[in-house]
Amino acid sequence: MHAELICFERSCRARYAITAVLYNCPQCGGLLEATYTGTMPAAEDLKRTWRARRLDNSPLEQSGVWRYRELFPFLDDYRHVVTLREGNTPLLDAPIAARYGGLGRLTFKHQGFNPTGSFKDNGMTCGAAQAVRLKMQRVACVSTGNTSASMAAYAAAAGLQPVIFIPHGNISYGKLAQALEYGARTLQVEANFDQILALVRVLAERLGIYLLNSINPFRIEGQKSIMVELMDQRDWRVPDWVVLPGGNLGNTSAFGKALREMKALGLIDRLPRLAVVQAEGSAPFYDLMRQPGGARLRAVGHPETLATAIKIGDPVSWPKAIEEVTASGGVVEKATEQEIADAKAQIGLCGIGCEPASAATLAGIRKLVAAGTIDRDADVVAVLTGNVLKDPDYIYRYHTGQLKDPHGETLASTYGNQPIVVPNDPDRIAALLG
Ligand SMILES: *Cc1c(COP(=O)(O)O)cnc(C)c1O
Ligand SMILES: [Zn+2]
Repeated sequence: MHAELICFERSCRARYAITAVLYNCPQCGGLLEATYTGTMPAAEDLKRTWRARRLDNSPLEQSGVWRYRELFPFLDDYRHVVTLREGNTPLLDAPIAARYGGLGRLTFKHQGFNPTGSFKDNGMTCGAAQAVRLKMQRVACVSTGNTSASMAAYAAAAGLQPVIFIPHGNISYGKLAQALEYGARTLQVEANFDQILALVRVLAERLGIYLLNSINPFRIEGQKSIMVELMDQRDWRVPDWVVLPGGNLGNTSAFGKALREMKALGLIDRLPRLAVVQAEGSAPFYDLMRQPGGARLRAVGHPETLATAIKIGDPVSWPKAIEEVTASGGVVEKATEQEIADAKAQIGLCGIGCEPASAATLAGIRKLVAAGTIDRDADVVAVLTGNVLKDPDYIYRYHTGQLKDPHGETLASTYGNQPIVVPNDPDRIAALLG
């Protein structure tokens, strides 16, 4: 297969070498994506190969990303791969969450089971491999947390120096702690996410650092594996809906691209509809979908949400995301802080749990089912993007009635579960427990 980078803008479509160090099209500023030419194996052969690889103990085949490498053949040498055995995440039935959402049945694909606890690992293994191939020594990203945790781990595993930039005071300790532990040089900048992104682009160019933000086309290629693994796990039965939270919209772009490519190859016979859910205080993509066709995204200057992983006012991948959502006949919904917090507690009650941004999925499903957009008996898969332990502070505050929204208003502890202080007295404890 021959791999190239191609400008996503329809009026441009300029092509560049797959080894060019570019994040935007030099001719028009558009987003870039990887594209491949050549003959692919037949769908049935791919399915058989991928299934057989699950029995192979080599690191490449044990990776739930690289096992599907025929769908993103951008490397010329698989010795460049850095894997922590990412992917391989479970599909979990969640009857309690289904009932809460108004559905007969709901399945979670839980990306929080990844090595650093979020779906960022699916993309980062590809981004890190490309950095190794390009003989880079340093890699950098701006992050609300999970990208930096993931990049730090993969860079460390690959022998690269990770440099992370984070908005000062705006990141959960779980994520920051990971980056420190994996040895990242960590710079807390007094600016918001979108401002820091502009800063880092300048620095990357000046210092020859490889950027691994979600705009990096190789991360998007890796995140396609989430949809491929999902379909493989379902024996290629396509769900009616795939629901996911939207921040920078890299995942929305990756899922859409993967699904279209799988359909073109005959791996699946139709596209599921994508439902993207944003937090109300950080919902520029929701607003865009309500504008007439051809409108441009209007950034939210001061995005606000406790779901820090989707606290993005100016999502870079919106031009791709809007095409993917539209192509799938999808929708964009938004949820309040209270709706996200309560949905998160319900996911916890399934014995599953997730971080706040992930719970936007169930909050959105509940609204979309109530509105009749999603049928009650639809076959729905929601992607939980991050692990429950990413933000323990949020959890403790919610359950003890101390969780405040970004305006300082205390949220209701609707499904709160307070720890109880008891005396060292078996009779009284027995009475309490009934
Ligand atoms: C990064 C992230 C998101 C947002 O994904 P985008 O691709 O930026 O839309 C959502 N949830 C979690 C847990 C994340 O880490
Ligand atoms: Zn271009």
